[in-house]
Amino acid sequence: MDSPAVGILMGAMMVGIVFGCASLAIAERKRRSPGGFFLVGFLLGPLGILAAVLAAPGEPAPPPGMRAVMCPRCNARQNIARDQADFECWQCKLVSQTQAAYRGR
Ligand SMILES: [Zn+2]
Repeated sequence: MDSPAVGILMGAMMVGIVFGCASLAIAERKRRSPGGFFLVGFLLGPLGILAAVLAAPGEPAPPPGMRAVMCPRCNARQNIARDQADFECWQCKLVSQTQAAYRGR
């Protein structure tokens, strides 16, 4: 199988990988899924880079030993200790149980 079609296919693959890596780098800086954006860049080329540029930045990861929870009333996000059963929302002061506590009962 040594035809021009193979060359075109190889060229398209390399272009896809270049756009995929560029999308991945942008997504990683914004804390978004790097694998997903690599795929988008690989398949869509420049549109993948555009999607990565326009994507909203992801939330920062919680510090070690902590986890992120979201208030059920106002959707405010905060970090609490990993084994904490309930928390008070910093914004609306609603006290709510975490999902881990529900699972235990
Ligand atoms: Zn709240």
